[in-house]
Amino acid sequence: MNAHPDFHGKAKDLKFETRAFINGKYVEARSGETFETRNPATGKLLANVSAGDAADVDDAVKAARTTFEAGSWSKMAPRDRKKALLRFADLIEKNSAELALIETLDCGKPINDSMTVDLPDTVETLRWHAEATDKIYDQMSSAPNDVVSMIVREPIGVVGGVIPWNFPLFVAMWKLAPALAGGNSIILKPAEQTSLSLLRLAALASEAGIPDGVVNVVPGMGPTAGRAIGLHRDIDCVSFTGSGEVGRYFLKYSAESNMKRIILECGGKSPSIVMDDIKDLTPVLENVASAILFCQGENCSAGSRLVVHEGIKDRLLEELKPVFESWTVGDPLNTATRIGSMIEKEHLDKVLSYIELGRKEGAKVALGGNQVLAETGGSFVEPTIFDDVSNRMRIAREEIFGPVLSVITVKDEEEALKVANDTNYGLAASLYTDDLNRAHRMAKSIRAGTVSVNCYSEGDFAVPFGGYKESGFGGKDKGLAAHDQYTETKAIWIQLR
Ligand code: NAD
Repeated sequence: MNAHPDFHGKAKDLKFETRAFINGKYVEARSGETFETRNPATGKLLANVSAGDAADVDDAVKAARTTFEAGSWSKMAPRDRKKALLRFADLIEKNSAELALIETLDCGKPINDSMTVDLPDTVETLRWHAEATDKIYDQMSSAPNDVVSMIVREPIGVVGGVIPWNFPLFVAMWKLAPALAGGNSIILKPAEQTSLSLLRLAALASEAGIPDGVVNVVPGMGPTAGRAIGLHRDIDCVSFTGSGEVGRYFLKYSAESNMKRIILECGGKSPSIVMDDIKDLTPVLENVASAILFCQGENCSAGSRLVVHEGIKDRLLEELKPVFESWTVGDPLNTATRIGSMIEKEHLDKVLSYIELGRKEGAKVALGGNQVLAETGGSFVEPTIFDDVSNRMRIAREEIFGPVLSVITVKDEEEALKVANDTNYGLAASLYTDDLNRAHRMAKSIRAGTVSVNCYSEGDFAVPFGGYKESGFGGKDKGLAAHDQYTETKAIWIQLR
Protein backbone atom coordinates (compact mmCIF):
# COMPACT_ATOMS: atom_id res chain seq x y z
CA MET A 1 0.00 0.00 0.00
CA ASN A 2 1.12 3.52 -0.70
CA ALA A 3 1.68 4.87 2.79
CA HIS A 4 1.84 8.53 3.73
CA PRO A 5 5.15 8.74 5.66
CA ASP A 6 4.20 11.78 7.69
CA PHE A 7 1.08 10.24 9.29
CA HIS A 8 2.81 6.93 9.90
CA GLY A 9 5.65 8.76 11.64
CA LYS A 10 3.27 10.80 13.74
CA ALA A 11 1.28 7.69 14.61
CA LYS A 12 4.42 6.04 16.04
CA ASP A 13 5.00 8.98 18.39
CA LEU A 14 1.40 9.11 19.70
CA LYS A 15 0.80 8.41 23.37
CA PHE A 16 -2.77 7.33 24.08
CA GLU A 17 -4.72 8.20 27.20
CA THR A 18 -6.42 4.97 28.20
CA ARG A 19 -7.86 5.71 31.66
CA ALA A 20 -11.35 6.87 32.56
CA PHE A 21 -11.84 10.60 33.10
CA ILE A 22 -13.86 11.15 36.28
CA ASN A 23 -14.21 14.36 38.28
CA GLY A 24 -11.49 16.12 36.29
CA LYS A 25 -8.86 13.38 36.68
CA TYR A 26 -7.69 10.33 34.76
CA VAL A 27 -8.18 7.18 36.84
CA GLU A 28 -7.76 3.45 36.31
CA ALA A 29 -10.90 1.31 36.50
CA ARG A 30 -11.60 0.29 40.11
CA SER A 31 -11.38 -3.37 39.10
CA GLY A 32 -7.94 -2.78 37.55
CA GLU A 33 -9.23 -4.60 34.44
CA THR A 34 -8.43 -3.44 30.91
CA PHE A 35 -9.50 -4.40 27.41
CA GLU A 36 -7.63 -4.25 24.12
CA THR A 37 -8.26 -1.72 21.39
CA ARG A 38 -6.79 -2.54 17.98
CA ASN A 39 -6.09 -0.67 14.77
CA PRO A 40 -8.74 -2.10 12.40
CA ALA A 41 -6.49 -1.48 9.38
CA THR A 42 -3.63 -3.65 10.64
CA GLY A 43 -5.15 -5.76 13.39
CA LYS A 44 -2.32 -4.59 15.67
CA LEU A 45 -2.80 -3.65 19.30
CA LEU A 46 -3.04 0.11 19.89
CA ALA A 47 -3.57 0.16 23.66
CA ASN A 48 -5.11 -1.50 26.68
CA VAL A 49 -7.99 0.62 27.89
CA SER A 50 -9.44 0.75 31.44
CA ALA A 51 -12.51 -1.46 31.59
CA GLY A 52 -14.96 0.68 33.51
CA ASP A 53 -17.99 -1.05 35.01
CA ALA A 54 -20.86 -0.25 37.39
CA ALA A 55 -18.48 0.94 40.15
CA ASP A 56 -16.75 3.45 37.86
CA VAL A 57 -20.07 4.62 36.40
CA ASP A 58 -21.26 5.16 39.95
CA ASP A 59 -18.15 7.25 40.76
CA ALA A 60 -18.76 9.34 37.67
CA VAL A 61 -22.45 9.82 38.51
CA LYS A 62 -21.60 10.92 42.06
CA ALA A 63 -19.08 13.46 40.73
CA ALA A 64 -21.56 14.66 38.12
CA ARG A 65 -24.38 15.01 40.67
CA THR A 66 -22.20 16.79 43.22
CA THR A 67 -21.04 19.34 40.65
CA PHE A 68 -24.57 19.75 39.36
CA GLU A 69 -25.94 20.44 42.84
CA ALA A 70 -23.05 22.79 43.65
CA GLY A 71 -24.13 24.95 40.72
CA SER A 72 -20.63 25.87 39.51
CA TRP A 73 -21.76 24.93 35.99
CA SER A 74 -25.52 24.43 36.21
CA LYS A 75 -26.11 27.89 37.67
CA MET A 76 -23.31 29.71 35.86
CA ALA A 77 -24.55 32.71 33.86
CA PRO A 78 -25.34 31.41 30.35
CA ARG A 79 -22.95 33.87 28.73
CA ASP A 80 -20.09 32.55 30.88
CA ARG A 81 -20.99 28.96 30.03
CA LYS A 82 -20.95 30.00 26.40
CA LYS A 83 -17.44 31.43 26.76
CA ALA A 84 -16.15 28.22 28.36
CA LEU A 85 -17.72 26.11 25.61
CA LEU A 86 -16.20 28.32 22.93
CA ARG A 87 -12.78 27.90 24.61
CA PHE A 88 -13.40 24.12 24.59
CA ALA A 89 -14.13 24.32 20.83
CA ASP A 90 -10.94 26.34 20.23
CA LEU A 91 -8.89 23.75 22.10
CA ILE A 92 -10.39 20.89 20.08
CA GLU A 93 -9.58 22.80 16.92
CA LYS A 94 -6.02 23.42 18.11
CA ASN A 95 -5.58 19.69 18.79
CA SER A 96 -7.44 18.59 15.64
CA ALA A 97 -4.47 16.97 13.93
CA GLU A 98 -3.78 14.72 16.91
CA LEU A 99 -7.47 13.90 17.45
CA ALA A 100 -7.98 13.13 13.74
CA LEU A 101 -5.03 10.77 13.80
CA ILE A 102 -6.35 9.00 16.91
CA GLU A 103 -9.78 8.70 15.25
CA THR A 104 -8.32 7.13 12.12
CA LEU A 105 -6.07 4.72 14.01
CA ASP A 106 -8.89 3.58 16.29
CA CYS A 107 -11.76 3.48 13.70
CA GLY A 108 -9.97 2.52 10.48
CA LYS A 109 -11.56 5.46 8.66
CA PRO A 110 -9.57 7.50 6.09
CA ILE A 111 -7.43 10.25 7.60
CA ASN A 112 -8.84 12.60 5.00
CA ASP A 113 -12.36 12.03 6.42
CA SER A 114 -11.18 12.46 10.01
CA MET A 115 -9.47 15.74 9.12
CA THR A 116 -12.11 17.21 6.82
CA VAL A 117 -15.35 15.85 8.29
CA ASP A 118 -15.13 14.40 11.81
CA LEU A 119 -12.98 17.07 13.43
CA PRO A 120 -14.40 20.19 11.75
CA ASP A 121 -17.94 18.92 12.41
CA THR A 122 -17.10 18.26 16.06
CA VAL A 123 -15.76 21.79 16.50
CA GLU A 124 -18.55 23.52 14.59
CA THR A 125 -21.28 21.55 16.36
CA LEU A 126 -19.88 22.66 19.69
CA ARG A 127 -19.59 26.29 18.57
CA TRP A 128 -23.13 26.35 17.23
CA HIS A 129 -24.70 24.98 20.42
CA ALA A 130 -22.40 27.16 22.55
CA GLU A 131 -23.64 30.25 20.71
CA ALA A 132 -27.23 29.23 21.47
CA THR A 133 -26.53 29.07 25.22
CA ASP A 134 -27.50 32.68 25.94
CA LYS A 135 -30.04 33.04 23.12
CA ILE A 136 -32.74 30.61 24.16
CA TYR A 137 -35.47 32.39 26.08
CA ASP A 138 -38.03 31.16 28.52
CA GLN A 139 -41.72 31.88 27.87
CA MET A 140 -44.79 33.38 29.48
CA SER A 141 -48.21 32.02 28.70
CA SER A 142 -51.30 34.13 28.26
CA ALA A 143 -52.95 34.18 31.66
CA PRO A 144 -55.52 36.24 33.60
CA ASN A 145 -54.38 39.74 34.44
CA ASP A 146 -53.75 38.93 38.09
CA VAL A 147 -51.51 35.97 37.26
CA VAL A 148 -47.93 35.77 36.03
CA SER A 149 -47.51 32.47 34.22
CA MET A 150 -43.91 31.58 33.41
CA ILE A 151 -42.67 28.55 31.51
CA VAL A 152 -39.01 28.11 32.37
CA ARG A 153 -36.43 25.57 31.34
CA GLU A 154 -34.07 23.99 33.81
CA PRO A 155 -31.22 21.58 33.11
CA ILE A 156 -32.41 18.00 33.48
CA GLY A 157 -29.43 17.12 35.71
CA VAL A 158 -27.10 14.20 35.04
CA VAL A 159 -27.03 12.96 31.46
CA GLY A 160 -25.62 9.68 30.10
CA GLY A 161 -24.33 9.54 26.53
CA VAL A 162 -23.75 6.10 24.99
CA ILE A 163 -21.79 6.38 21.77
CA PRO A 164 -21.22 4.15 18.70
CA TRP A 165 -17.88 3.38 17.03
CA ASN A 166 -18.45 4.90 13.61
CA PHE A 167 -18.23 8.60 14.56
CA PRO A 168 -16.86 8.56 18.12
CA LEU A 169 -16.16 12.28 18.43
CA PHE A 170 -18.80 14.00 16.46
CA VAL A 171 -21.74 11.83 17.53
CA ALA A 172 -20.57 12.36 21.13
CA MET A 173 -20.54 16.10 20.45
CA TRP A 174 -24.15 15.96 19.20
CA LYS A 175 -25.02 15.05 22.80
CA LEU A 176 -22.28 16.77 24.75
CA ALA A 177 -22.74 20.23 23.23
CA PRO A 178 -26.48 20.80 23.88
CA ALA A 179 -26.30 18.98 27.24
CA LEU A 180 -23.44 21.21 28.43
CA ALA A 181 -25.03 24.35 27.00
CA GLY A 182 -28.08 23.65 29.16
CA GLY A 183 -25.98 23.39 32.33
CA ASN A 184 -26.05 19.61 32.76
CA SER A 185 -23.29 17.25 33.85
CA ILE A 186 -22.60 14.27 31.62
CA ILE A 187 -21.09 10.78 31.61
CA LEU A 188 -20.06 9.57 28.17
CA LYS A 189 -19.41 5.93 27.38
CA PRO A 190 -17.55 5.45 24.11
CA ALA A 191 -17.96 2.21 22.15
CA GLU A 192 -15.36 -0.34 23.30
CA GLN A 193 -13.81 -0.40 19.81
CA THR A 194 -13.10 3.35 19.83
CA SER A 195 -12.48 4.89 23.26
CA LEU A 196 -9.28 6.80 22.59
CA SER A 197 -10.39 10.07 21.00
CA LEU A 198 -13.08 10.81 23.60
CA LEU A 199 -10.65 10.05 26.43
CA ARG A 200 -8.22 12.59 24.95
CA LEU A 201 -11.01 15.12 24.40
CA ALA A 202 -12.13 15.00 28.03
CA ALA A 203 -8.99 16.73 29.35
CA LEU A 204 -9.58 19.61 26.93
CA ALA A 205 -12.90 20.32 28.67
CA SER A 206 -10.99 20.85 31.94
CA GLU A 207 -8.36 22.93 30.18
CA ALA A 208 -11.18 25.14 28.86
CA GLY A 209 -12.30 25.83 32.44
CA ILE A 210 -15.33 23.55 32.58
CA PRO A 211 -15.57 22.52 36.26
CA ASP A 212 -14.51 19.05 37.41
CA GLY A 213 -17.32 16.53 37.38
CA VAL A 214 -19.20 18.17 34.49
CA VAL A 215 -17.61 16.06 31.73
CA ASN A 216 -16.82 12.44 32.57
CA VAL A 217 -15.81 9.64 30.20
CA VAL A 218 -16.06 6.02 31.32
CA PRO A 219 -14.76 3.50 28.77
CA GLY A 220 -16.00 -0.06 29.05
CA MET A 221 -18.10 -2.82 27.59
CA GLY A 222 -21.76 -2.35 26.67
CA PRO A 223 -23.23 -5.04 28.92
CA THR A 224 -21.29 -3.69 31.94
CA ALA A 225 -20.59 0.05 31.72
CA GLY A 226 -23.37 0.76 29.18
CA ARG A 227 -25.91 -1.23 31.17
CA ALA A 228 -24.86 0.53 34.39
CA ILE A 229 -25.59 3.89 32.77
CA GLY A 230 -28.97 2.65 31.59
CA LEU A 231 -29.94 1.33 35.02
CA HIS A 232 -28.43 4.04 37.24
CA ARG A 233 -31.11 5.62 39.38
CA ASP A 234 -29.36 8.98 39.60
CA ILE A 235 -29.02 9.55 35.84
CA ASP A 236 -31.92 11.66 34.57
CA CYS A 237 -31.60 11.13 30.84
CA VAL A 238 -29.69 8.88 28.44
CA SER A 239 -29.03 9.77 24.85
CA PHE A 240 -27.97 6.69 22.93
CA THR A 241 -26.73 6.24 19.39
CA GLY A 242 -26.22 2.73 18.09
CA SER A 243 -28.10 -0.31 16.91
CA GLY A 244 -31.83 -0.75 17.37
CA GLU A 245 -31.17 -3.98 19.22
CA VAL A 246 -29.20 -2.22 21.97
CA GLY A 247 -31.42 0.86 21.81
CA ARG A 248 -34.35 -1.29 22.92
CA TYR A 249 -32.38 -2.32 26.02
CA PHE A 250 -32.29 1.32 27.11
CA LEU A 251 -36.07 1.51 27.06
CA LYS A 252 -36.09 -1.52 29.35
CA TYR A 253 -33.34 -0.13 31.59
CA SER A 254 -35.36 3.02 32.03
CA ALA A 255 -38.52 1.11 32.86
CA GLU A 256 -36.65 -1.08 35.35
CA SER A 257 -34.96 1.83 37.12
CA ASN A 258 -36.05 5.45 37.50
CA MET A 259 -38.02 6.11 34.26
CA LYS A 260 -35.14 8.26 33.02
CA ARG A 261 -35.73 10.03 29.73
CA ILE A 262 -34.41 8.00 26.78
CA ILE A 263 -33.41 9.35 23.39
CA LEU A 264 -32.45 6.80 20.74
CA GLU A 265 -30.70 7.37 17.42
CA CYS A 266 -30.55 4.02 15.68
CA GLY A 267 -29.94 2.50 12.29
CA GLY A 268 -31.32 2.94 8.79
CA LYS A 269 -31.84 1.42 5.36
CA SER A 270 -32.10 4.68 3.51
CA PRO A 271 -33.06 4.98 -0.14
CA SER A 272 -31.36 7.05 -2.84
CA ILE A 273 -34.20 7.57 -5.33
CA VAL A 274 -33.31 8.52 -8.92
CA MET A 275 -36.14 9.50 -11.26
CA ASP A 276 -35.88 9.38 -15.07
CA ASP A 277 -36.43 13.13 -15.56
CA ILE A 278 -32.82 13.81 -14.50
CA LYS A 279 -30.91 15.32 -17.41
CA ASP A 280 -27.36 15.50 -16.04
CA LEU A 281 -26.34 12.33 -14.23
CA THR A 282 -22.84 13.53 -13.29
CA PRO A 283 -23.65 15.09 -9.90
CA VAL A 284 -26.01 12.20 -9.11
CA LEU A 285 -23.23 9.64 -9.53
CA GLU A 286 -20.87 11.12 -6.95
CA ASN A 287 -23.73 11.68 -4.49
CA VAL A 288 -25.09 8.13 -4.83
CA ALA A 289 -21.53 6.82 -4.36
CA SER A 290 -20.84 9.01 -1.28
CA ALA A 291 -24.15 7.99 0.22
CA ILE A 292 -23.07 4.36 0.47
CA LEU A 293 -19.27 4.49 0.38
CA PHE A 294 -18.48 7.34 2.80
CA CYS A 295 -17.16 5.91 6.09
CA GLN A 296 -16.95 2.47 4.40
CA GLY A 297 -20.76 2.35 4.47
CA GLU A 298 -20.54 2.22 8.27
CA ASN A 299 -22.90 5.13 8.40
CA CYS A 300 -26.38 5.20 9.91
CA SER A 301 -27.76 7.38 7.10
CA ALA A 302 -26.00 5.40 4.33
CA GLY A 303 -27.99 5.36 1.09
CA SER A 304 -27.90 1.58 0.93
CA ARG A 305 -30.86 1.11 -1.45
CA LEU A 306 -30.72 2.68 -4.89
CA VAL A 307 -34.35 2.97 -5.98
CA VAL A 308 -34.13 3.84 -9.65
CA HIS A 309 -36.63 4.43 -12.44
CA GLU A 310 -36.50 1.74 -15.13
CA GLY A 311 -36.10 4.40 -17.83
CA ILE A 312 -32.69 5.41 -16.51
CA LYS A 313 -31.49 2.33 -14.62
CA ASP A 314 -29.12 0.76 -17.20
CA ARG A 315 -27.38 4.06 -17.97
CA LEU A 316 -27.08 4.98 -14.31
CA LEU A 317 -25.60 1.63 -13.35
CA GLU A 318 -23.05 1.67 -16.18
CA GLU A 319 -21.92 5.19 -15.29
CA LEU A 320 -21.92 4.42 -11.56
CA LYS A 321 -19.46 1.52 -11.77
CA PRO A 322 -16.36 3.57 -12.68
CA VAL A 323 -17.26 6.11 -9.98
CA PHE A 324 -17.41 3.33 -7.38
CA GLU A 325 -14.09 1.97 -8.68
CA SER A 326 -12.49 5.39 -8.25
CA TRP A 327 -13.09 5.18 -4.48
CA THR A 328 -9.68 3.83 -3.49
CA VAL A 329 -9.71 1.21 -0.77
CA GLY A 330 -6.58 1.10 1.34
CA ASP A 331 -4.37 2.36 4.11
CA PRO A 332 -6.43 4.87 6.11
CA LEU A 333 -3.27 6.92 6.76
CA ASN A 334 -2.82 7.56 3.05
CA THR A 335 -4.56 10.83 2.15
CA ALA A 336 -5.67 9.39 -1.20
CA THR A 337 -7.66 6.60 0.49
CA ARG A 338 -11.43 7.00 0.42
CA ILE A 339 -12.47 3.65 1.90
CA GLY A 340 -10.69 2.43 5.00
CA SER A 341 -11.08 -0.73 7.04
CA MET A 342 -14.24 -2.20 8.53
CA ILE A 343 -14.15 -1.65 12.28
CA GLU A 344 -13.17 -5.23 13.22
CA LYS A 345 -12.90 -8.78 11.91
CA GLU A 346 -16.37 -9.74 13.28
CA HIS A 347 -17.94 -6.87 11.39
CA LEU A 348 -16.03 -7.78 8.20
CA ASP A 349 -17.43 -11.31 8.50
CA LYS A 350 -20.94 -9.88 8.93
CA VAL A 351 -20.62 -7.75 5.78
CA LEU A 352 -19.19 -10.67 3.77
CA SER A 353 -21.98 -12.93 4.98
CA TYR A 354 -24.55 -10.41 3.70
CA ILE A 355 -22.78 -10.41 0.32
CA GLU A 356 -23.04 -14.19 0.29
CA LEU A 357 -26.69 -13.95 1.33
CA GLY A 358 -27.43 -11.50 -1.51
CA ARG A 359 -26.06 -14.01 -4.02
CA LYS A 360 -28.17 -16.79 -2.49
CA GLU A 361 -31.27 -14.60 -2.54
CA GLY A 362 -30.85 -14.23 -6.31
CA ALA A 363 -29.44 -10.71 -6.58
CA LYS A 364 -26.68 -10.21 -9.17
CA VAL A 365 -23.24 -8.87 -8.20
CA ALA A 366 -22.73 -6.04 -10.68
CA LEU A 367 -19.48 -4.87 -9.07
CA GLY A 368 -17.05 -5.98 -6.35
CA GLY A 369 -18.27 -8.44 -3.76
CA ASN A 370 -14.97 -9.34 -2.13
CA GLN A 371 -12.69 -8.79 0.79
CA VAL A 372 -9.47 -7.10 -0.35
CA LEU A 373 -6.02 -6.39 1.15
CA ALA A 374 -6.29 -9.33 3.55
CA GLU A 375 -2.47 -9.44 3.70
CA THR A 376 -2.48 -6.16 5.69
CA GLY A 377 -4.18 -7.78 8.69
CA GLY A 378 -7.01 -5.25 8.19
CA SER A 379 -10.67 -5.82 7.29
CA PHE A 380 -11.21 -4.22 3.88
CA VAL A 381 -14.17 -4.70 1.53
CA GLU A 382 -14.31 -3.41 -2.04
CA PRO A 383 -17.25 -1.25 -3.17
CA THR A 384 -20.03 -3.63 -4.08
CA ILE A 385 -23.19 -3.24 -6.15
CA PHE A 386 -26.02 -5.76 -6.23
CA ASP A 387 -28.39 -5.47 -9.19
CA ASP A 388 -31.82 -7.12 -9.58
CA VAL A 389 -32.63 -6.70 -5.91
CA SER A 390 -36.20 -7.06 -4.70
CA ASN A 391 -37.20 -4.96 -1.71
CA ARG A 392 -38.31 -8.18 0.01
CA MET A 393 -34.76 -9.57 0.11
CA ARG A 394 -32.92 -9.38 3.41
CA ILE A 395 -30.08 -7.40 1.79
CA ALA A 396 -32.68 -4.70 1.07
CA ARG A 397 -34.25 -4.80 4.52
CA GLU A 398 -31.42 -5.25 7.02
CA GLU A 399 -28.64 -2.82 7.84
CA ILE A 400 -25.41 -4.27 6.36
CA PHE A 401 -23.22 -1.35 7.50
CA GLY A 402 -20.66 -1.81 4.74
CA PRO A 403 -19.98 -0.50 1.19
CA VAL A 404 -22.76 -2.59 -0.35
CA LEU A 405 -25.44 -1.01 -2.55
CA SER A 406 -28.70 -2.76 -3.50
CA VAL A 407 -30.28 -1.61 -6.76
CA ILE A 408 -34.08 -1.84 -6.92
CA THR A 409 -35.79 -0.91 -10.20
CA VAL A 410 -39.20 0.80 -10.19
CA LYS A 411 -41.58 1.82 -12.96
CA ASP A 412 -42.92 5.15 -11.71
CA GLU A 413 -43.08 7.71 -8.92
CA GLU A 414 -45.77 5.83 -7.03
CA GLU A 415 -43.76 2.62 -6.92
CA ALA A 416 -40.59 4.53 -5.97
CA LEU A 417 -42.37 5.97 -2.93
CA LYS A 418 -43.88 2.62 -2.02
CA VAL A 419 -40.49 0.92 -2.08
CA ALA A 420 -38.75 3.82 -0.29
CA ASN A 421 -41.25 3.65 2.56
CA ASP A 422 -41.46 -0.14 2.70
CA THR A 423 -38.88 -0.48 5.49
CA ASN A 424 -38.87 -0.63 9.28
CA TYR A 425 -36.44 2.28 9.27
CA GLY A 426 -36.92 5.97 8.53
CA LEU A 427 -33.68 7.82 9.08
CA ALA A 428 -32.91 9.50 5.76
CA ALA A 429 -33.62 9.52 2.02
CA SER A 430 -32.09 11.23 -1.01
CA LEU A 431 -34.13 12.14 -4.02
CA TYR A 432 -32.85 13.09 -7.50
CA THR A 433 -35.22 14.82 -9.92
CA ASP A 434 -35.26 17.89 -12.17
CA ASP A 435 -39.00 18.35 -11.62
CA LEU A 436 -39.67 20.84 -8.82
CA ASN A 437 -43.24 19.72 -8.28
CA ARG A 438 -42.16 16.10 -8.07
CA ALA A 439 -39.38 17.04 -5.63
CA HIS A 440 -41.86 18.65 -3.22
CA ARG A 441 -44.48 15.97 -3.70
CA MET A 442 -42.07 13.11 -3.04
CA ALA A 443 -40.17 14.83 -0.21
CA LYS A 444 -43.50 15.20 1.62
CA SER A 445 -44.41 11.57 1.08
CA ILE A 446 -41.19 9.98 2.30
CA ARG A 447 -41.33 8.84 5.93
CA ALA A 448 -37.82 9.74 7.08
CA GLY A 449 -36.24 12.28 9.40
CA THR A 450 -34.08 13.85 6.69
CA VAL A 451 -34.88 14.08 2.99
CA SER A 452 -32.15 15.57 0.82
CA VAL A 453 -33.01 16.61 -2.72
CA ASN A 454 -30.43 16.49 -5.52
CA CYS A 455 -27.68 15.81 -3.00
CA TYR A 456 -26.76 13.38 -0.28
CA SER A 457 -26.74 15.30 2.98
CA GLU A 458 -27.77 15.20 6.62
CA GLY A 459 -27.88 19.00 6.63
CA ASP A 460 -25.72 20.90 9.10
CA PHE A 461 -25.83 21.25 12.91
CA ALA A 462 -28.71 23.75 12.67
CA VAL A 463 -31.23 21.11 11.54
CA PRO A 464 -32.47 18.17 13.60
CA PHE A 465 -31.17 14.71 12.80
CA GLY A 466 -32.97 11.55 13.80
CA GLY A 467 -35.31 8.93 12.57
CA TYR A 468 -38.91 7.97 12.05
CA LYS A 469 -40.07 4.45 12.88
CA GLU A 470 -37.34 2.14 14.25
CA SER A 471 -34.58 4.62 13.41
CA GLY A 472 -35.21 6.75 16.45
CA PHE A 473 -37.11 7.39 19.61
CA GLY A 474 -37.79 10.24 21.96
CA GLY A 475 -35.98 13.12 20.28
CA LYS A 476 -33.35 14.18 17.79
CA ASP A 477 -29.74 15.28 17.77
CA LYS A 478 -28.67 18.70 16.42
CA GLY A 479 -30.79 21.80 15.91
CA LEU A 480 -32.23 23.97 18.65
CA ALA A 481 -34.70 21.29 19.72
CA ALA A 482 -31.74 19.20 20.93
CA HIS A 483 -31.46 21.69 23.81
CA ASP A 484 -35.01 20.90 24.92
CA GLN A 485 -34.09 17.23 25.36
CA TYR A 486 -31.64 18.06 28.11
CA THR A 487 -33.97 20.41 29.97
CA GLU A 488 -37.06 20.06 32.10
CA THR A 489 -39.88 22.51 31.52
CA LYS A 490 -41.36 24.04 34.64
CA ALA A 491 -44.58 26.03 34.89
CA ILE A 492 -44.50 28.76 37.56
CA TRP A 493 -47.97 30.22 38.22
CA ILE A 494 -47.95 33.31 40.41
CA GLN A 495 -51.17 34.75 41.82
CA LEU A 496 -50.75 38.52 42.23
CA ARG A 497 -52.21 40.16 45.29
P1 NAD B 1 -24.13 -0.87 19.25
O1 NAD B 1 -25.57 -0.76 19.47
O2 NAD B 1 -23.52 -2.22 19.17
O3 NAD B 1 -23.31 -0.10 20.37
C1 NAD B 1 -23.59 1.26 20.69
C2 NAD B 1 -23.18 1.52 22.12
O4 NAD B 1 -23.99 0.73 22.99
C3 NAD B 1 -21.72 1.16 22.43
O5 NAD B 1 -21.18 2.14 23.29
C4 NAD B 1 -21.86 -0.17 23.14
O6 NAD B 1 -20.80 -0.45 24.04
C5 NAD B 1 -23.16 0.02 23.90
N1 NAD B 1 -23.80 -1.25 24.25
C6 NAD B 1 -23.69 -2.45 23.62
N2 NAD B 1 -24.40 -3.40 24.28
C7 NAD B 1 -24.97 -2.78 25.34
C8 NAD B 1 -25.84 -3.22 26.40
N3 NAD B 1 -26.23 -4.49 26.48
N4 NAD B 1 -26.25 -2.31 27.30
C9 NAD B 1 -25.86 -1.02 27.23
N5 NAD B 1 -25.02 -0.55 26.27
C10 NAD B 1 -24.60 -1.42 25.33
O7 NAD B 1 -23.86 -0.01 17.93
P2 NAD B 1 -22.49 0.19 17.16
O8 NAD B 1 -22.18 -1.14 16.53
O9 NAD B 1 -21.46 0.83 18.03
O10 NAD B 1 -22.88 1.27 16.06
C11 NAD B 1 -23.52 0.92 14.88
C12 NAD B 1 -25.00 1.22 14.94
O11 NAD B 1 -25.19 2.58 15.32
C13 NAD B 1 -25.67 1.09 13.60
O12 NAD B 1 -26.90 0.44 13.74
C14 NAD B 1 -25.86 2.53 13.15
O13 NAD B 1 -26.89 2.71 12.23
C15 NAD B 1 -26.10 3.21 14.44
N6 NAD B 1 -25.83 4.66 14.34
C16 NAD B 1 -26.88 5.53 14.34
C17 NAD B 1 -26.66 6.92 14.21
C18 NAD B 1 -27.81 7.90 14.24
O14 NAD B 1 -27.58 9.08 14.47
N7 NAD B 1 -29.05 7.48 14.01
C19 NAD B 1 -25.35 7.40 14.09
C20 NAD B 1 -24.30 6.48 14.10
C21 NAD B 1 -24.56 5.11 14.24
